[in-house]
Amino acid sequence: MSKQVYSFAEGDGKNKKLLGGKGANLCEMTQIGINVPPGFVITTEACLNFLSSNELPDSLLAEVNEQVADLEKAAGKTFGKGPNPLLVSVRSGSALSMPGMMDTILNLGLNEDTLQSLIQQTSDERFAYDAYRRFIQLFGKVALGIADEPFDEIFDEVKARVGVTADVALEAPHLKEISEKFLQVVRRETGREFPHDVMTQLQLAVEAVFRSWMGKRAVDYRREFHITPDMANGTAVNICTMVFGNKGDDCATGVGFTRNPGTGDNEMFGEYLTNAQGEDVVAGIRTPKPLQQMEQEMPEQYSQLVALRNTLESHYQEVQDYEFTIEKGILYCLQTRNGKMNAAATVKTSVEMFREKLITREQALLRVPPELLEQLLHPRLDPASDSKPIALGLPASPGAASGKCVFDADLAEKLGNQGETLILVREETRPEDIHGFFAAQGILTSRGGKTSHAAVVARGMGKPCVAGAEGIVVDVDLRQAHVGEHLIREGDVITLNGATGEVYLGAIPTIPAHFSDELAELLGWADETAKLKVMANADTPDAAKTAREYGAMGIGLCRTERMFNAVDRLPIVIDMILADGKDERKAALSRLLPIQRDDFIQLFTTMAPDPVTVRLLDPPMHEFLPTEHQLLEQIDTLRTYRDVVRGRQTVLATLDHRVELPEVFEELSEEHVNDALTRKERMLKKVRELEEVNPMLGHRGVRLGITYPEIYEMQIRAILEAAMQCSEDGVDVQAEIMVPQVITAQELEHVQKMATDIGARLQKESGKPLKYKFGTMIETVRACTRAWHLAKNVEFFSFGTNDLTQAVFSFSREDAENKFLPMYNETGILQDNPFEVLDIKGVGKLIKMAVSSGREQREDLKIGICGEQGGHPESIQFCHDVGLNYVSCSGPRVPVARLAAAQASLENPDRA
Ligand code: PEP
Ligand code: MG
Repeated sequence: MSKQVYSFAEGDGKNKKLLGGKGANLCEMTQIGINVPPGFVITTEACLNFLSSNELPDSLLAEVNEQVADLEKAAGKTFGKGPNPLLVSVRSGSALSMPGMMDTILNLGLNEDTLQSLIQQTSDERFAYDAYRRFIQLFGKVALGIADEPFDEIFDEVKARVGVTADVALEAPHLKEISEKFLQVVRRETGREFPHDVMTQLQLAVEAVFRSWMGKRAVDYRREFHITPDMANGTAVNICTMVFGNKGDDCATGVGFTRNPGTGDNEMFGEYLTNAQGEDVVAGIRTPKPLQQMEQEMPEQYSQLVALRNTLESHYQEVQDYEFTIEKGILYCLQTRNGKMNAAATVKTSVEMFREKLITREQALLRVPPELLEQLLHPRLDPASDSKPIALGLPASPGAASGKCVFDADLAEKLGNQGETLILVREETRPEDIHGFFAAQGILTSRGGKTSHAAVVARGMGKPCVAGAEGIVVDVDLRQAHVGEHLIREGDVITLNGATGEVYLGAIPTIPAHFSDELAELLGWADETAKLKVMANADTPDAAKTAREYGAMGIGLCRTERMFNAVDRLPIVIDMILADGKDERKAALSRLLPIQRDDFIQLFTTMAPDPVTVRLLDPPMHEFLPTEHQLLEQIDTLRTYRDVVRGRQTVLATLDHRVELPEVFEELSEEHVNDALTRKERMLKKVRELEEVNPMLGHRGVRLGITYPEIYEMQIRAILEAAMQCSEDGVDVQAEIMVPQVITAQELEHVQKMATDIGARLQKESGKPLKYKFGTMIETVRACTRAWHLAKNVEFFSFGTNDLTQAVFSFSREDAENKFLPMYNETGILQDNPFEVLDIKGVGKLIKMAVSSGREQREDLKIGICGEQGGHPESIQFCHDVGLNYVSCSGPRVPVARLAAAQASLENPDRA
């Protein structure tokens, strides 16, 4: 059996997989001279062994004994014995930080004997009983599985009887009484005495922490954040000498960030409480003070804290989130980890830490997870709104959200699943509320600070949070909250502004976020670093403008059918589909031509001088018509209506006196109804003619363009005339015509001839040159296998990985996502949804093959991707690796893709 336990002085600070993030950092801090209380780490391997065998092996217990003996020596204390008893904390810590998801026990080592020694040693009965009651409750909960309620009831009862609200107002006899009653709770709930033997305590605590790796909270968290066993497997256990922040007024405890995690500002940030234990700060039981206040209150320790912060940041070259305790004037660092920040703060610190020469530009780019940038595109409250807030709390996590109030996590989960938008309102949150966070759009608490559980978790998730809004009195039992004269009931809508801490009644309008200077700078570096260009999928001039603002370097896919669907065009498109013969069809198309040309002029102008790739019509025609079912219903209604009109005529003809009718009856004659009926019946006939067994594999894409050449001719003409018009107006256009659903070079030759003929005619008419590119989508399996041949006819390929994925998997996206794909993902049959994350093993193999044979034919072939996966970071990495020239994705994904493209370049600078 390999070594399972390491002291902080010997553990490898880089081996987070083995020692967990917290353990590795405790080792590293100890080894670089930071004042960490002595302790040791039990490895994640030991955890996995325990979880499979369900017992701690003797070899592990022997190693723990040895380490405890060393601790006793280092601390000059004895475990389980006076006069100077050793107390320890037992904390979880896996390779990836999962704040609050697993268990921790403090003050372990207390029993009736060591308690007395502690009293004698400190001459502080209050302190000792306070430590004891905390330990019994925490140990009872974590190691013995007793709920908080019976303990909380006793605690609240004593507080009420004594007439105090703050825990610190309780005196030694009260805490003694509480401890005794807590021991009775343990006896009653477990049928056994609280364990007196401290090694038994330690063993049970280690087992409980190991087990918490598989607890519901932790499992839910790993699933939500896609933490796979590759990333973190099992938890380590950190056993550390206790130091106390609650031994008097020269003691304190607190948490800090080396920079402000809400804004990214380079300043001391954090909170502390004097004469308190760490859990008081994090659990939000007392509202803590900002760190800056320590400068006056404990100036010497404050300057040590500033030095600690500087050492941490320069050593880790990363913003740190640290915990500290001051015991009798001595500062100890209890843990550090990379700080979780929101997107704006991550971006700002990246740019500033580069400017401060703390990190390189490459590090600055690599430390921002691309997906995080989506948060920056979250809306803010419209400053023009003149609504008055009803309460003010701490701005704990920025962003704005409105939703219905819900007072517990279980209900939030239930309503969230039904699609409700919600704000979770609690006095304070606990780790077991995590599912409520997932379901809610925002979090509001009436207690706790900016480092409370609610604040930390919400920031990590990028959800707005207002914490410690003390003006709100939450009554979970009555499912309501009072704010001054306002009463908020469950289901009432409120709005949070996480950036200011304001809370409003009702829904307040929001406005979209804007790019900060730092984000623009970071993405500017990204563009210089990336080999891939990032284009947008955009179909309208408005979408093109937005895409431009996001930094799109052109349009990689304009789906012309989306233009066809606009209300002013659809009737013309329907005329075109219903046309009897080519001439009628051409007449309808000639009405569409100027509209399309105008669209293209606007798109080319917005994107100039970057390329705009226009895809010719792709979907099957029936998509523009109502369904057979809808038409049958409409025809039925019209027939009934015709009977009514006929009946009216009969009534009028039968009666010999004049009847006044409402105007509408006067206007609608039987002829009108008949016209409408004829049109609907024609549509129905057409719908039946167009019906296909499998329309997505049927008459669509280039096949439409070849069988109805006048459609593609009109579109090509509109594109080329628009390009010509733009050049005449001095706009630098780069028009690209793209053919969908191609399977063979002959199809391309066909369409290419149309383009060449139309282009030649236009050039002749105008006497001006015309430049454009001609390319194809690669979205059928056959196109991949015939890429060498297809490349003869085109200047670019664009992988349509939506269709290609359907073709390779032989299932459709809609059917898969609605039926079996979630189950496939949950059971691990498929790791990801291949319509979101490119299936590198299958679809990727075809792409690789098509890229190399396409380029074999034409070295300068431009190649991109325009399916959904083009905005997904891992898929972008693959696109970079196989040598694509660009990715094209929806506008709001463009910033994500720009950063992902840069990271791909940094990770693989010598790509194919
Ligand atoms: C594709 O198939 O990937 C594609 C971009 O086209 P569409 O989604 O319009 O079929
Ligand atoms: Mg497609």
